[in-house]
Amino acid sequence: MTSQQTTPVLSEHHVGDTLMLIDGEWTGAADGRWIDVESPRDRTVLGRVPRAGTEDVDRAVTAAARAFPLWRDLRPRDRGDVFRRIADALEPEQERIARLLSLENGNALRTQSRGETQFLVDAFRYFAGVAGEAKGESIPLNSLVLDYSRREPLGVVGAIVPWNAPLMLSALKIAPALVTGNTLVLKLAEDAPLAALAVARICQEYLPDGVLNVVTGYGTEAGEALTSHPAVAKLSFTGSTAVGRRVMEKGAERIVPVSLELGGKSPQIVFPDADEDWVVDGTITGMRFFRQGQSCTAGSRLFIHEAVFDSFVDKLVDRLSELVVGDPLDEASDMGTLVNGRQHGRVCEYIAEGIAQPGVDLALGGLPPVEGPLAEGWYQRPTVFAHVSNSWRIAAEEIFGPVVCAIPWRDEDEVVRMANDTHYGLAGFVWTHDLGRALRTAHALEAGWVQVNQGGGQVLGQSYGGFKQSGIGREFSLEGMLDSYTQRKHVSVHLER
Ligand code: NAD
Repeated sequence: MTSQQTTPVLSEHHVGDTLMLIDGEWTGAADGRWIDVESPRDRTVLGRVPRAGTEDVDRAVTAAARAFPLWRDLRPRDRGDVFRRIADALEPEQERIARLLSLENGNALRTQSRGETQFLVDAFRYFAGVAGEAKGESIPLNSLVLDYSRREPLGVVGAIVPWNAPLMLSALKIAPALVTGNTLVLKLAEDAPLAALAVARICQEYLPDGVLNVVTGYGTEAGEALTSHPAVAKLSFTGSTAVGRRVMEKGAERIVPVSLELGGKSPQIVFPDADEDWVVDGTITGMRFFRQGQSCTAGSRLFIHEAVFDSFVDKLVDRLSELVVGDPLDEASDMGTLVNGRQHGRVCEYIAEGIAQPGVDLALGGLPPVEGPLAEGWYQRPTVFAHVSNSWRIAAEEIFGPVVCAIPWRDEDEVVRMANDTHYGLAGFVWTHDLGRALRTAHALEAGWVQVNQGGGQVLGQSYGGFKQSGIGREFSLEGMLDSYTQRKHVSVHLER
């Protein structure tokens, strides 16, 4: 993303101006301002989206509040049907949307964007299927009293998503919020709004006006306007821990419930019996190298037992050296680009700091090339730092780039203590053939999601979310939907009076 003042070099895939969705209409910002969306693969301008401000957000929230009573009173199965039809309509558009996604956020089409677009369709179908599950309970008292609970929607939900997985994360706000009868104002990330707007265009063909509103703009403008708006009844945020804290403060001002999916610095623990090729491949997936490490669940602290440390790192370096970093649209690319120049600069700073650290071993990668094809976009090669101390900044802070810190360990208690020595608690990975040891470790890790001998992504139905400063609340599941997007009401009826 660049500001309008920079000289715009238009992308060969330039899409022009894409409007945002307010009250069923496709519209620009009230004050006529725009944001350029840059393609990180070659730093050209892909198009523009409206730079929404307070007035636009107010219009969107007002529309959502107006649409709420009718949408709330539909039968849940009818709301579910809408999402089934949207999923059907999205299917033939998946490839087009996936390409747009790769162009705007730099994720490789083959390894990432197609899968993310498939997830979007699957998520709409999943939540369509559980739409009727917002059930209440009755309490056994006596035959003269009926005491029961209802799950009711909250009203207007204000949701904010980041750029790293905008389709998946938007789907996880739109579908559960809407099938439970809420209406929504979704604020997209300024760096990657285009694919999600293409999805919104299809959604809008099936939804009443005002039920789904999608605004584009900066966090400090549109984002703040949404989190501060008095008619928003619930805030659902995915992004950095720093901004999550701010969103929670805004929620606290009005006692509005808040769900947060935040950052991570997740541990992967390799036991001495796991010095094998399939484990190396699994840790690479767990590190989310195929998304350039730009994932909240990236297992970026790799604790390897000292008995197999060198041998494991050698295998890791060999395997990572085979990955093709290149144009996200190229079918040969395993890895694409980082999202923008700011993120690229941040990752370079961490790498430079790592290289300067006394005692470190830069086993692979390093600072990106300054010439050649990879210098034309925001590319970054896989980087492995070995013999890292868990206390260094590169091991403590979320780099959000393709950088893994390999840390040696000796005994089980010590590695669990190091793994938990972080304010984050999102994910964890354990690699060993010894099931008892694996589960003992999984139970001891302070993380919302631990995988044993696998490193893949979340699945629908799993209640996913963070411990500690990685978040509050759960997504991806029926339980998450009920907790995040409904509130219980109790009704007590005396049957004789
Ligand atoms: P970010 O927090 O900077 O931005 C996320 C969103 O918040 C964007 O839409 C942005 O415009 C908006 N925003 C920024 N400032 C705001 C403010 N003051 N008020 C309201 N909205 C504001 O995060 P990012 O750099 O875009 O994304 C990367 C972060 O997201 C990482 O920390 C990553 O771990 C996290 N993340 C977490 C999950 C999860 O499920 N836990 C998933 C994906 C990403």
